[in-house]
Amino acid sequence: MSTIGFIGLGIMGAPMAGHLVAAGHHVTGYDVSSAAVGKLAAEGGQGAANVAEAVRDAEIVITMLPADPQVEEVFFGEDGVLATAKPGTLYIDFSTITPGTSARVAEAGRERGLRVLDAPVSGGQKGAEDAILSIMVGGAEEDFAAAAPIFEAVGRTYRLVGPNGAGQVVKAANQLVVGGTYALVAEAIVLMEASGVDAAAGLDVLAGGLAGSRILELKRDSMLAREFTPGFRIDLHHKDMGIVVSAARDAEVALPLGAQVAQLVAAARAQGHGSLDHSALLKVVEALSGR
Ligand code: NAD
Repeated sequence: MSTIGFIGLGIMGAPMAGHLVAAGHHVTGYDVSSAAVGKLAAEGGQGAANVAEAVRDAEIVITMLPADPQVEEVFFGEDGVLATAKPGTLYIDFSTITPGTSARVAEAGRERGLRVLDAPVSGGQKGAEDAILSIMVGGAEEDFAAAAPIFEAVGRTYRLVGPNGAGQVVKAANQLVVGGTYALVAEAIVLMEASGVDAAAGLDVLAGGLAGSRILELKRDSMLAREFTPGFRIDLHHKDMGIVVSAARDAEVALPLGAQVAQLVAAARAQGHGSLDHSALLKVVEALSGR
């Protein structure tokens, strides 16, 4: 069992840290929210007052933070991971950030003797709670092998997809498909309701055929009920579509549908829905049709 420092105990990080505690690891957690730290402590983990306290004695350091600025602050900041982790520490960043930042973090970490993996996840809050996340990993083969017990505790499918940063590219591809699927499910709902057909029955039939998807399975009821408690916030998907668009520019490819999805997510945010679940794309699609 390992000594783990876990930073970022939000919607995803809290259940993931809980699974690591349940698997027998010694987990010391830190979050800017003291309530989140208290919750981990109540579940058998240990609370830390700052990043350094969580990292100092750890063999494995994990972050699950919102975006690039928070990862940069926690990793490069004064008394951050880079400054306080012991040489040889395995650092796993589960956050979704830009591939370039992941590569930069890995390079700086390696110079100080750290082993670094980018390991963004898919599966949402439910996937985190049920420990069935899909994990896309960038980094070295031996570090990936060393992280296997961690991935086993929080996930079900995990693959090494390339060097540092590659995990983030696969996550961008994931967010492209997820955002596009939400947009199309939303359009399907608007079409059926506006045509006076039974949208609930319609979605059941869609779910049983080639149009079926995990999004239809998990979100059918909440979307029909216009229940948009996150889950995964529009603000975070907006950040992710920015990563998709910049990754496409770097790779010199055109993603016309991705660009449209990015605009729909931007519209959701502009309409004040940033803190709602990303299934609230339905609100934008409805507004476009005056509904
Ligand atoms: P969240 O906002 O619920 O959690 C982030 C946590 O980080 C919060 O508790 C916040 O207080 C903490 N935090 C922020 N800055 C900090 C700092 N400087 N030091 C310490 N703690 C800090 O977000 P989330 O939904 O858990 O998402 C986390 C990451 O996982 C994001 O990159 C997101 O894109 C990705 N993700 C989320 C989901 C989902 O369904 N929610 C699914 C897959 C991937």
